Amino acid sequence: MKCGIFSIVGRPNVGKSTLVNILTEQKVSITSRKPNTTRTSVLGVATKGANQIIFVDTPGWQKKPKRLLDRYMNRFIDWSFDQVDCVLMISDARSWRHEDKLLAKSVLCLSTPKILIINKIDLIKNKAKLLTYVDNLEKDGLIFDDYIFISAKKKQSLDSLLKIVTGYCPKRDFIYDTNTVTNKTLNFRISEVIREKMLMFLGDELPYETCVVIEQFDDREKLVRINAVAYVERDSQRLIILGKTGSLIKKISTKARYDIETLVGKQVYLRIWVKVAESWSDDTEKLKLFGLKGG
Ligand code: GDP
Repeated sequence: MKCGIFSIVGRPNVGKSTLVNILTEQKVSITSRKPNTTRTSVLGVATKGANQIIFVDTPGWQKKPKRLLDRYMNRFIDWSFDQVDCVLMISDARSWRHEDKLLAKSVLCLSTPKILIINKIDLIKNKAKLLTYVDNLEKDGLIFDDYIFISAKKKQSLDSLLKIVTGYCPKRDFIYDTNTVTNKTLNFRISEVIREKMLMFLGDELPYETCVVIEQFDDREKLVRINAVAYVERDSQRLIILGKTGSLIKKISTKARYDIETLVGKQVYLRIWVKVAESWSDDTEKLKLFGLKGG
């Protein structure tokens, strides 16, 4: 039996969450077109035959963390480097930016093996262009242990990726049950679904500081009653999420309820309240309360 822990890094929007979700065959972490939607380090577990692969998904790297919340996000990344067998850095096949270079430099200083996963190859029309991608990095002195070109979204080359990744799994008993896909609580996953639906309807208008907390989860025989609270920092933000006469929050609830019913396997009665908690993203006590404070 082999079991390995892999840290996933990469600048926002390169497809980290998409890849973890597909490899774990479950909605573990939220995906969106808006960068920095993943706040806490989400662990996805993929057990394939005699191999167990544990992914530590990392939130978007903040180069100059200004707020407390951002500093905690960076700490999750530092934490994940310490305990992993291999680092998977993801980049976008369409470009190699300055941020990628900075991240690659810090990743390449680590003593653990590192693999560069070049994602979104489905968006490259002239595949010959990909040939020079790795050459250019190596010319710059950025040399990884392995490289692979994939498309997470179109599920291209994922088998080859798994083959490479399992090659870096040490011989070790499985850490999780074979049917575990994440160590996150159901409450956390429900709140992520709600946040994802808010992003779907509001896009860039969703205040960055929005945080969803599940206040009641009442599991009855045929139905689950859930009361969720979306905390924002200002009344104007509350009104944006509610929409005219509460029409938007109703749409968000309907979409979220549908996904949560799949998650819990029962009918769901969901109510989402929108409340104002001033400056929560810079308040240690509130971050703790919302489960966002790391060690
Ligand atoms: P993260 O911020 O790195 O976790 O990125 P996400 O997984 O949230 O993905 C950001 C966006 O890129 C989403 O709209 C995804 O659907 C999209 N995406 C991810 N992988 C691929 C891919 O292989 N091809 C294409 N075309 N889009 C992708």
